[in-house]
Amino acid sequence: MRLSRYFLPLLKETPATAEIVSHQLMLRAGLVRQVAAGIYAWLPLGLKVLQRITDIVRREQERAGAVEMLMPTIQPAELWRESGRYDAYGPEMLRLTDRRGRELLYGPTNEEMVTAIVRDGIRSYRELPLTLFHVQWKFRDEIRPRFGVMRGREFLMKDAYSFDLDEAGARASYEAQFLAYLRTFAAMGLRALPVRAPTGPIGGELSHEFHILADTGESELFYDAAIDEVDLADPDAPQRLRGLYAMEAEEHARAARCPVPAERLARRRGIEVGHIFFFGTKYSAALGLALPGPDGRTITPLCGSYGIGLSRLVGAIIEASHDSAGIVWPDAVAPFDVGLVNLRPDDPVCTALADEVERRLTAAGRSVLHDDRDLRAGEKFASMDLIGLPWMVTVGPKGVAAGVVELKRRATGERHELSVESLLARIGA
Ligand code: ATP
Ligand code: MG
Repeated sequence: MRLSRYFLPLLKETPATAEIVSHQLMLRAGLVRQVAAGIYAWLPLGLKVLQRITDIVRREQERAGAVEMLMPTIQPAELWRESGRYDAYGPEMLRLTDRRGRELLYGPTNEEMVTAIVRDGIRSYRELPLTLFHVQWKFRDEIRPRFGVMRGREFLMKDAYSFDLDEAGARASYEAQFLAYLRTFAAMGLRALPVRAPTGPIGGELSHEFHILADTGESELFYDAAIDEVDLADPDAPQRLRGLYAMEAEEHARAARCPVPAERLARRRGIEVGHIFFFGTKYSAALGLALPGPDGRTITPLCGSYGIGLSRLVGAIIEASHDSAGIVWPDAVAPFDVGLVNLRPDDPVCTALADEVERRLTAAGRSVLHDDRDLRAGEKFASMDLIGLPWMVTVGPKGVAAGVVELKRRATGERHELSVESLLARIGA
């Protein structure tokens, strides 16, 4: 992709309205623009990150056996009256009326809708267990939208819903999502802490939040420092983590006695990026989802719901991975793998080499953002540092004579002069 034909509106100044570094960098690096309070347009570079995050989430959901579908953003109020949540949800729900006077709402979550769809689509207990998920925009009219996409009003969520015939099955579905979440966040280069959570307005019995540790997080956490030692890539990690204490401060204060000795109790702030709930028959009973079981007796399926804040994750990743020059994308979610800087677009020899590097890296499976603009070198380097692509390749007049380009690793600043062949051997996918 040529930068001269792309849309990357960078900002030189830090916008005064942005309080935290991820919000500042998302505006400066041309990832998003605010359209209204808590409502953002995703610009091309930001959209790529959102898509890469979504791809990882989708892959891990499918690996855990969940099946993708897509439900609409707009829902009938009637559905929410069936569960009793239409009145309970309060002013956070955006309510609409169509031209025929029918009451609608912009969905803040989808338990009712998916339960009604499964109710109407399933005939036999043999069709369960089933976990469905979708990736869809949500709207919550947050009282205080802030920190950019971190607490928006319109935001993108992956939400999954499990349906099981018995408690053991439902717990297995919950475990499968718990494991999928650990894998998902690890694949993004993040350490996410599972925190035993109160269940809130969605209700239910068992719930965990997943938090990225960051000083700007809105939640205050207390946890057993042994968690910091758990290798998240270890297949036993979910089991080990489940045994270790982690609580939001409010819950921690309610606990009569903390099971963790004071010297092992860590206290940090966290950003909630995911939340899983097991709530049993709450919605299946309310919406009349019931099936004749093998012995003829009626079974009311046991359910759980599992959310990941996809748009919030973009901000959370930046909070966890940046330096004074800009964003430092983890490889797995970077909008492009390589930033290619042609220092002399007016020089045919430089340009021919830069074009060749772009062509060959692309053929080798790398995505390349090629800065072919006629700007000062310093400005081009600063832009690349700001947008934080994992690798930068510079083609300039000095190197061209010797047949070499310069490779820089964004995260470490490490630089190497390489021939094009060696470059391909080094960073070709
Ligand atoms: P919070 O406590 O941060 O308000 P929540 O507990 O109300 O979030 P859930 O219903 O658990 O949110 O939604 C699942 C996930 O969706 C959350 O873990 C979070 O990552 C994301 N999310 C929730 N609200 C927002 C929001 N206003 N903006 C961006 N992401 C959000
Ligand atoms: Mg939550």
